[in-house]
Amino acid sequence: MTLSRIAEEIKPSGTIKISTKVKSMAREGISVIGFGMGEPDFNTPKNIADAAIKAIKDGFTKYTPTSGILELREAICEKLLGDNGLKYSPTQVVVSSGAKQVTHNLILVLCDSGDEVIIPSPYWVSYPEQVKMAGARPVYVQGTDETGFKVTPESLKEAITPRTKVLLLNSPGNPTGVVYTEEELRTLAGIAVEKGIYVISDEIYEKIIYDGIKHASPASFGDEFMNRVITVNGFSKAYAMTGWRLGYAAGPENVIKATIRLQDHTTSCANSIAQKAAVEALRGDQTTVGLMVAEFDKRRRYIVERLSKLEGISCIMPKGAFYVFPNVTGLYRLGIAGTNVSDSTKLVDLLIEKARVAFVPGVCFGSDDHIRISFATNMNQIEEGMDRLEELLTS
Ligand SMILES: *Cc1c(COP(=O)(O)O)cnc(C)c1O
Repeated sequence: MTLSRIAEEIKPSGTIKISTKVKSMAREGISVIGFGMGEPDFNTPKNIADAAIKAIKDGFTKYTPTSGILELREAICEKLLGDNGLKYSPTQVVVSSGAKQVTHNLILVLCDSGDEVIIPSPYWVSYPEQVKMAGARPVYVQGTDETGFKVTPESLKEAITPRTKVLLLNSPGNPTGVVYTEEELRTLAGIAVEKGIYVISDEIYEKIIYDGIKHASPASFGDEFMNRVITVNGFSKAYAMTGWRLGYAAGPENVIKATIRLQDHTTSCANSIAQKAAVEALRGDQTTVGLMVAEFDKRRRYIVERLSKLEGISCIMPKGAFYVFPNVTGLYRLGIAGTNVSDSTKLVDLLIEKARVAFVPGVCFGSDDHIRISFATNMNQIEEGMDRLEELLTS
């Protein structure tokens, strides 16, 4: 008997593969510095954890409505209005077990088999796999180093066909740290909206943004946009809550209602305790968010400065999120300590072996010319990792 089409098609996650390798080397006593993780190294702020403990003690441990508790959906509406200028009612919000789950659900309710979803590349690893699971087809639009990894309106227009159903946007973006300006987002989302194409705007890194740049939400650009854009966000990145598994989407009521129906029969509600914690995350003191971002900013500058001194690596300063995505084609030309490398997977393997530093191959994100380096790890580790890399590359 064969397995299903989905089972055959889904690729293993490249990021998880690297962390497994690092862990198995650690068991053999080899210390590898990991730059693979896509999660904040900080703990969840105490006020948020306390709210969860209180929820447990109060016995708030039963199923909630599939869409999420009203209190949380109201807090999300307040947040979307205050931060993003978006006027939603709680019936236009669904709470899910992570932004990842809600994106998957949205693609399932929006796409039929054979539909096309436009994904700006480099992209977050899960988008193409989620599109394929829905039987739809990922269509990539390439951003390059020259455009700061942004896709142009021309290339977007060229990718649109009568089968295009969804455009995925992710600003600030993983893995490149790209942040589109409000004008650029208005143009790109506008091209889609004008053609009746839905836009899923993954804004999970909204708070992790540098140089005083202002985040913009495409749904806020006008009524036409409100009717077509679904805003996705979550708690994992801004509040260091990856393990709590909580995210949400807000959008047109018919889309949200369908997402809730789908979720009724798959995971039901998100964790009740985490939902209480999330209310505190949104309504409580926000100072820890700023402190985390300031620390990420320091690491970002340091890592880019160290990388830019290395021959064969060229690096754009990321404007958001906590990754750098350097171009490593220079190393393919130069070789490393006498060894030739010609792709990002071999390069990452070689760097783990010879320098004991672990990055993620760019090919996982749609570019074999790059590697992803996460700086969601402490400064000592970053310094030591950069020393090791420099030592190997200058030997
Ligand atoms: C981390 C991440 C997510 C997933 O967030 P969860 O809420 O933990 O599921 C979604 N999109 C991007 C681009 C991410 O990097």
